[in-house]
Amino acid sequence: MYRLGEEEIEAIAEVIRSQKFSRGNKGNIRAVYNFEKEMREYMGADYFFVLTSGKAALISALTAMGIGPGDEVIVPAYTYIATAVAVLAVGAIPVIVDVDETLTIDPKAIEANISKYTKAIIPVHMQGMPSNMDAIMDIAKKHNLYVLEDACQAVGASYKGKMLGTIGDAGAYSFNSFKNITAGEGGGVITNNTTIYENAFIYHDSSGIAWLGNEMEGFDNKLFVGTEYRVSEITGAMLRVQLKRLDGIVADLRENKKKVMDAIKDTGLKFAPSNDPEGDCGNIIPMTFDDVETAQAFLKEAGDQMDILSNMGRHIYSNWESIMLKRGAVNPKNDPFLRPENQGLNMNYTPDMCQKTIDLLARTVILFINPDWTDDERQKKIDELKAAAAKVLK
Ligand SMILES: *Cc1c(COP(=O)(O)O)cnc(C)c1O
Repeated sequence: MYRLGEEEIEAIAEVIRSQKFSRGNKGNIRAVYNFEKEMREYMGADYFFVLTSGKAALISALTAMGIGPGDEVIVPAYTYIATAVAVLAVGAIPVIVDVDETLTIDPKAIEANISKYTKAIIPVHMQGMPSNMDAIMDIAKKHNLYVLEDACQAVGASYKGKMLGTIGDAGAYSFNSFKNITAGEGGGVITNNTTIYENAFIYHDSSGIAWLGNEMEGFDNKLFVGTEYRVSEITGAMLRVQLKRLDGIVADLRENKKKVMDAIKDTGLKFAPSNDPEGDCGNIIPMTFDDVETAQAFLKEAGDQMDILSNMGRHIYSNWESIMLKRGAVNPKNDPFLRPENQGLNMNYTPDMCQKTIDLLARTVILFINPDWTDDERQKKIDELKAAAAKVLK
């Protein structure tokens, strides 16, 4: 969450005054409907719909692709736990692979981990940083795999001119309160694939909309048993206002990031390389050090709004307790780790299986960019970074 104000309050008040909360209620203010339309235009994709969370978006998209028991899905070792849990939620097995210096999934690690069971790759655009989509799409094409972009942290970012989320077969966005735009909680599925859209939409609401809004009329796909991830008009109303703020947020994140990077470029600090500096959303500046000791010393000196990536808790595979300990379900028959179809798949999880990632995260310090810094606040940060670099780097 970056920006929020009276306009959101007014938009939500309008929903409450209307007393029509469901996207299926006749006479509602069509907030969800209009947000979906505006997102399709903004992102440049044929289909988009909003649901309860980013994880619900990942689960719905994987379900729509037909992924399930007996399938492996490749995920990066540096991502929020939700990416990997979504794979397990559809009964498949996440294969965890290293990230490279860009802090996004390493295409070489993808290739090295493809097996006869692999069905999909989930590149994750962490903190607004684009994954290497050209290489990933080439690999996917060669091996006939689906690509599901986890763009939960990258709403508004792009890769070579295309909005993140729209390059693979489908993309997932999150609108929880830590993300670029927010409705408190929320998510979205984006795709240009009619079958994936229809299946994901049915899955997200296999009981409700069919009766209320007739939104599935014209679907080629038949209803099947799914779940209930529908959002209310309140979510749509808030997100319509937030979407109007997105261009400004991204522009100011990028401008602040560029100004700080320009100001510290001669200090000897090394920036992590980017797969597309123009498309990067500007949420953070990642700085990579030669060793852990220097990284920690720099963090200590450099002041607030900083962290080291090894502190990122459940964004690091070795802290994914439920997965590392293979606690897949309450009922063992529902447990993907125990399912007969999954025996023989790649689930030999160990804390050091992606040592390259662990090492990289321990040497990478990040600065969180604030799009609303005043010139003085930004200059103070620059001065702190310069002083810390002068002290720590020799
Ligand atoms: C936030 C996030 C999710 C999940 O989003 P929710 O809306 O919290 O379910 C998934 N993947 C990544 C990379 C995220 O940052």
